[in-house]
Amino acid sequence: MFTSINPYTQKTIATYAPHTPAEIEHKLLTGERAFRQLLDTTLDQRREWMMQVAKSLKDNVAEHAALITQEMGKTLKEAKAEVLKCATSAEYYAEHITSMLQPKPVESDAYKSYVSYEPKGIILAIMPWNFPYWQVFRFAIPNILAGNTGLLKHASNVSGCSLAIEKVFMESGFPAGTFQSLLISSKDIAPVIADPRIQGVTLTGSTPAGKSVAALAGKYIKKTVLELGGSDPFIVLKDADLEAAARTAVQGRMQNAGQSCIAAKRFIVEKEVAPAFTAEVRRILENMQQGDPTLDTTNMGPMARPDLAEELMQQLQETLAQGARLELGGTLEGCNFAPTLLTGVTSDMTAFKQETFGPLAVIIEAASELDAIALANETEFGLGAALWTSDLDKAARLATLIESGNVFINAMVRSDARLPFGGVKQSGYGRELSLEGTHEFLNIKTVYIQ
Ligand code: NAP
Repeated sequence: MFTSINPYTQKTIATYAPHTPAEIEHKLLTGERAFRQLLDTTLDQRREWMMQVAKSLKDNVAEHAALITQEMGKTLKEAKAEVLKCATSAEYYAEHITSMLQPKPVESDAYKSYVSYEPKGIILAIMPWNFPYWQVFRFAIPNILAGNTGLLKHASNVSGCSLAIEKVFMESGFPAGTFQSLLISSKDIAPVIADPRIQGVTLTGSTPAGKSVAALAGKYIKKTVLELGGSDPFIVLKDADLEAAARTAVQGRMQNAGQSCIAAKRFIVEKEVAPAFTAEVRRILENMQQGDPTLDTTNMGPMARPDLAEELMQQLQETLAQGARLELGGTLEGCNFAPTLLTGVTSDMTAFKQETFGPLAVIIEAASELDAIALANETEFGLGAALWTSDLDKAARLATLIESGNVFINAMVRSDARLPFGGVKQSGYGRELSLEGTHEFLNIKTVYIQ
């Protein structure tokens, strides 16, 4: 059984029976049939249905947000913003998909040659609980508009969200089976990946999960997109606007109770400004209101599960034992991990070397600009990076030296429907969103007419 437990109250919300092999087979059959039906629809029809998806999300934002908050603990404010981001992204793609799928003429020796973008079939999406709607919609919206169908294996603690998303698509006019939720455990995923009706696999989650799924998919020559873990640097140079940098660093680290792949996980600060930056970060953290995620006054909820909070506590203890200084926080009650600040962190410590998935901010001092970049790159991950400086020419030059899929200058790293999103190194490969992401699971077909 899959059990959804409210991380704030620790009460069980609901239990869900896993799908049986016969039910899984039925879903694969229905997904394949829906794919054939979508091939017979026009793009304009699919755009209309996607606008209906957007409307449904907006009309029912309160219920969707409440479900997210109950299942994984983010504040209701954050949950509402997440649902609305899905809705506006559905509208954005409904408006722009036609040009993204336009065949591209290419000059060659042919009388006419062009590239055509065509759907392939059912795409399996394995998704995490931290943004239980957005992670799913950012895959589903462009793919379904392009004519693929989606089968979602969501994280085991957010089955309610998984079924609610299925319902949104089902009630928006798309053929039955266009988007389906599969309640199965990760240990039962292998036969689904192997099934010839599955044409590709996208996974957003931890690096170990990505390795396992990519190895399986590779065995069956299935394309994968992997959106994995990160340990994003947030670099503050001595000419930065320190107050704005501190405010954004805290927001980037603490939003979603620190459980974001692109959270600012390592604050790397030039030593001349480290004391002033630390003081400002500390002041902002001291004013954070942690508590009941349903209250308007709360700006940080609990972590999503006790085991995740305990894992973070272990990383904190190790880092302290290695010589870091505890400036603030460091306590855990239930799933409520207090906003925590460490200084004196160095590159040999646990909180630098591992991904920390919770409200733990760490400050690392850099001797110079180039030392800051070297520290930023001294990680196996390469998802996002933020760089703060008032010299924009220098920022553009330094951005080319940073090993990551996204660099944000004087801003917080975030995903945006209009921009490609993804990582390098152990943070994965492939892209979601924008033109690049939309084409990942399409047959990029060359047509040559003599
Ligand atoms: P996770 O434990 O890897 O789980 C993610 C999904 O993968 C869940 O549906 C999980 O199912 C499934 N899964 C886990 N192990 C698997 C395996 N061996 N085979 C097949 N499926 C497997 O990650 P999480 O704790 O939910 O999420 C946190 C991680 O995701 C962090 O590392 C974070 O950085 C990363 N993340 C990355 C992005 C990005 O865009 N790059 C975005 C968000 C999160 P079960 O729940 O059933 O185990």
